[in-house]
Amino acid sequence: MEIRACPSCGSKNIFSYLSVIGMNYLCKDCGFQGVPFIFDSEEDYQVFLDELKKQE
Ligand SMILES: [Zn+2]
Repeated sequence: MEIRACPSCGSKNIFSYLSVIGMNYLCKDCGFQGVPFIFDSEEDYQVFLDELKKQE
């Protein structure tokens, strides 16, 4: 199963919508707009989350 995650805050609360330039994505948690990261598995997503926490 594909997982979409916000590159900015790591949230999976990504909302996709059709804009004038095509598909666009909005993170409902932090307001990030742009292309989300896509992970093939929950394991890959958890690795990304760990990396994100290290940067804080
Ligand atoms: Zn976000």
